[in-house]
Amino acid sequence: MALLDGKVAVVTGGNVGIGLATAKRFAAEGAYVFICGRRQSELDKAAAEIGENVSAVPVDVSKLEDLDRLYAEVGAAKGGIDVLFANAGILETVTLADSTPEHFDRTFDINARGAYFTVQKALPLLRDGASIILTSSVVWTKGFPAYGAYTATKAAVRSYVRTWSSELSKRGIRANVISPGPIETAMFGEQFPTKEAEEAGRKQFMASVPLGRIGRPEEIASAAVFLASDESSYITGIDLPVDGGLGSV
Ligand code: NAD
Repeated sequence: MALLDGKVAVVTGGNVGIGLATAKRFAAEGAYVFICGRRQSELDKAAAEIGENVSAVPVDVSKLEDLDRLYAEVGAAKGGIDVLFANAGILETVTLADSTPEHFDRTFDINARGAYFTVQKALPLLRDGASIILTSSVVWTKGFPAYGAYTATKAAVRSYVRTWSSELSKRGIRANVISPGPIETAMFGEQFPTKEAEEAGRKQFMASVPLGRIGRPEEIASAAVFLASDESSYITGIDLPVDGGLGSV
């Protein structure tokens, strides 16, 4: 029997990168997966890659009406949710001196407020015993320059699951975060202004990660499958670093 046989999963930011790798694994482990993202063309491509047992729903997590529409669709189709992976996020690297209110608001609207209401609005559909997983980042334990607003949103996400794991424990619902280190996705490259800066940044990260390399989205997906399944049935409120040792060593 596969680890997620018969489960219903929702993955935000599920059309590319970490979210797509995880949606693929969830489906391979027997789940029916709703993937959400902002761009329809990427959603369609992702759904085609996953193949069966998938629905693609265009959602901007910073828009509450989009979340309402998503959950109305999930409720009508499946009646409940067993696994919620609130993974959508953006990264804009800007120093404190160069920050604008627009940069701050955009980062918080999507990463912190978006994740919060992605979970809040799912509550009526979450089945007893469900697993909530949020994507934080190793940066919340660090002080990397130019990550100020982003890091604060990821610290917020880590904080949410402490509260939610106690609030939701009566229903057997678990809530955890995964904190990835540098992972080979579009987001990793796009944080650098030029190809040269990307190469230099890549070398710097590889030198500071104890395992000496950038991680793969599939390595985050493996951790998500673990937290989604009964394999982690006694685990709630944690931060699971999947970062090659960056935050711990
Ligand atoms: P990515 O850019 O490939 O994917 C980001 C996803 O978020 C996309 O699917 C995008 O459509 C979605 N998204 C962005 N804004 C959205 C919005 N307003 N509404 C709905 N969806 C939205 O990057 P990724 O690396 O796969 O990132 C996934 C998560 O992992 C993010 O939360 C990111 O902060 C986190 N993370 C990534 C890294 C890394 O090095 N790649 C490291 C630590 C944490």
